[in-house]
Amino acid sequence: MSIALGGHPREACGVIGIYAPHEDVARMAFFGLYALQHRGQEAAGIAVSDGERMTLHKDAGLVAQVFTPGSLARLAGHYAIGHTRYSTTGSSSARNAQPFMIETMNGPLALAHNGNLVNSAALRDELMRQGVGLSSSSDSEVLTMMLARDSGDTWEARIKAAMRKWTGAYSLVILTRSCIFAVRDPWGFRPLSVGLLPGGGYATASETGALHTLGCEAIREVKAGEIVTLNGTALRVEQALAPVEPSALCVFEHIYFSRPDAVWDGRSVHHVRQNLGRELALECPTAAEVVIPVPDSSIPAAIGYSSASGIPYNDGFIKNRYIGRTFIEPTDSLRKQGVALKFNVINENVLNRRVVMIDDSIVRGNTTGPIVRLLKNAGAKEVHVRITCPPIRHPCFMGVDMGAYEDLAAHRHSVEQIREKIGADSLHYLSLEGMMRAIGREDGYCQACFAGHYPLAVDLSSVKTGFEQGIAWKEAL
Ligand code: SF4
Repeated sequence: MSIALGGHPREACGVIGIYAPHEDVARMAFFGLYALQHRGQEAAGIAVSDGERMTLHKDAGLVAQVFTPGSLARLAGHYAIGHTRYSTTGSSSARNAQPFMIETMNGPLALAHNGNLVNSAALRDELMRQGVGLSSSSDSEVLTMMLARDSGDTWEARIKAAMRKWTGAYSLVILTRSCIFAVRDPWGFRPLSVGLLPGGGYATASETGALHTLGCEAIREVKAGEIVTLNGTALRVEQALAPVEPSALCVFEHIYFSRPDAVWDGRSVHHVRQNLGRELALECPTAAEVVIPVPDSSIPAAIGYSSASGIPYNDGFIKNRYIGRTFIEPTDSLRKQGVALKFNVINENVLNRRVVMIDDSIVRGNTTGPIVRLLKNAGAKEVHVRITCPPIRHPCFMGVDMGAYEDLAAHRHSVEQIREKIGADSLHYLSLEGMMRAIGREDGYCQACFAGHYPLAVDLSSVKTGFEQGIAWKEAL
């Protein structure tokens, strides 16, 4: 028996930047993007500079579909930035693929962005009023054009000036003729780390796992409000804007987005996920014979739940890993075409058993019910669903596509109504307090999608715009 996936929150891209003299930086960026593929599967691109000329290759598709040995060979240079895309603002067309590259009065410029500006509509209007034409609907192009127009003497000055006008989530890699800049917004929403390459040079990436893939050592985060310059023999670090206190790191990096081998906010994501499972077991003891994860992101939490509860852990599902994660695809029609990602139940592990099923989130509520049905059809006596975060009742404006208010299951329904609709024998969401205990901090993380308190002013009507552009699918609970 099998099922198509869907219904998780969707991430807004992965970025990478590499300065490595005498190395094939395009190939290194290619492998780095491979390690970030889970953050966006809609488009990929790499821009390279050899100190004089900048070249770019980007297209819609997976990293392995976009690049060939021939296209990589044409990207010669010492400096590279790359991007894997999942759209949040902007439609899903190939013209929104990143990096964006333009020629400016100060030489070529390329930019790749993870996040979402909440004031991009106003900035866009201002640019157009000044006569600037835009070729895409992406806020990342707005960032690029603003940098190109600023009159500062150096790129650092221009970036700093633009940062004062940008409100929202941005972890950026910016490529100029002979420099890479890693830039993070003062709230620190999205991750960005930097590391030392073994053969000399530096790399920066959305996740530390991508830096390890490149053999990096001495990894540090780009801190909130910082500009880190990658060229020459030493990193240059500038605190361009004062960090906002408390910070607003996206809690979903721990819950779902980042690979478990990532370190985010100095914490192992794998370890935090185990803690989330432990907290669930303590909050909601359940009589059952087996604990199973919905793979892959919930595996550490199920292990944690098992160790805290004493209920044996086992595999309940086998996930087909050879086909893309269809839920990353941003339109309903694309998703339907890509109904290839499948779960198969290991019947003997659930037959005649009371099952605790651990999952990371319920967003629209369109997939949990079918997954529960799979277990019941395979002979599970009872299915108790445990979710490693609180109910998602509010949309995200900072780069994560969760849908508008009316799309969110927990906005429209009570927990008991959701339990009934998904056909579970019980349903429990981890409390906000339990989640923060698992992370090991009381504050410093954005919790807006659970609690509705946004760390910056947002236009509550703007989330609808994204959906009208066809960014997300919607299914009835
Ligand atoms: S609203 Fe939720 S998904 Fe968006 S940045 Fe905050 S914690 Fe992350």
